[in-house]
Amino acid sequence: MKRIYCDHTSTTPIDERVLNEMLLFLKEKYANPSSIHLQGQEVRKHVEIARKKVAELINADSHEIVFTSGGTEANNLAIKGIAFKKGKGHIITSKIEHHSVLDVLKYLEKKGFDVTYLDVDKYGLVNPDDVKKAIRDDTILITIIFASNEVGTIQPVKEISEIAREKGIPFHTDACMMVGLEKVDVKELGVDMLSLSAHKFYGPKGIGALYARKGILLESLIHGGHHEKRRRGGSENVPGIIGMGKASELAMEEIEKDRERIKELRDNLEKFILESIPDVIVVGHPEKRLYNILTVCFKYIEGESILLNLDFEGISVSSGSACTSGSLEPSHVLLAMGLPHEVAHGSIRFSFGKINNLKDVEKIKEVLPGIINKLRQMSPFWEKNK
Ligand code: PMP
Repeated sequence: MKRIYCDHTSTTPIDERVLNEMLLFLKEKYANPSSIHLQGQEVRKHVEIARKKVAELINADSHEIVFTSGGTEANNLAIKGIAFKKGKGHIITSKIEHHSVLDVLKYLEKKGFDVTYLDVDKYGLVNPDDVKKAIRDDTILITIIFASNEVGTIQPVKEISEIAREKGIPFHTDACMMVGLEKVDVKELGVDMLSLSAHKFYGPKGIGALYARKGILLESLIHGGHHEKRRRGGSENVPGIIGMGKASELAMEEIEKDRERIKELRDNLEKFILESIPDVIVVGHPEKRLYNILTVCFKYIEGESILLNLDFEGISVSSGSACTSGSLEPSHVLLAMGLPHEVAHGSIRFSFGKINNLKDVEKIKEVLPGIINKLRQMSPFWEKNK
């Protein structure tokens, strides 16, 4: 059975062109870029070309890019990097961050830092006025996710950035879901730090970057060498960096290419679900939302059961965030958006990408109503409400 992959928000398949460039650096150009010999310097040259490509994707300068092991480490470096430099203080964030931000902040709270978790509205939007009101004399950092990995809502990052700048407070945004899908220009946005992850835009896993604007001073988290201008020790993940560079180049060139087609697939499924399945809620902002994500709550049943039934039919989706799967708690993002526990439990996220086509949507449309109906017939909650 040919499987249908509809989980591009969890990760994307690597682009063949990216893989081919990486292979050269696994097989032939294997030298350490810190080595002084010719082979080492040849690899160094390519690492720096890749850095330039990543920088260009977000309109940054090359020296403002620090390579990390992914989005999680980039978020850790931004937040702990500032916190450890300052030693104490207050941090502002939202209730709908990715765990790689929330868990860092919970850790910092234990170490004596103070954190304000801002509410969001029913669409998952942070109100910039709330950011303004939360600022204190001892606020050392504001960190707000750019686009939600769970519902796709896109935050007013430029407005928040202006507020932060006015007060002279560093502003970080987790843009792992945004970069590669939408145009991101750090200069126009005015952000101080921005996290990105290659496997979200057809690059390899285990490589990401933090953009840290010139002048932003961060405490290094990984000591052990002069790498990355002393901001991150350790021999560089050369194949990963080369892959991220190529993925960035392709994203720059092709950002508009599949956009309309992917959005049509998403909209097609959304319309079908709303018209043919009763008691469903499409979550996320109607317009300010990533064009490839469709998160739906099917009332009276469990997202996990829907996921497993779709899996059985050869369709891969997520229930809430892949990172929270495995826990029985409903998504913290959906709860923050005001959805009751029992509704949040029934959430499924479809996320489309370059490899999807209309046939995939038709297959989902063919099996989904039957699955929902079958599960509802078994649900005691459905009985009570009918
Ligand atoms: N932030 C967001 C919004 C994400 O979706 C993810 C990936 N699930 C991360 C951070 C972490 O990125 P990585 O998997 O590269 O560590």
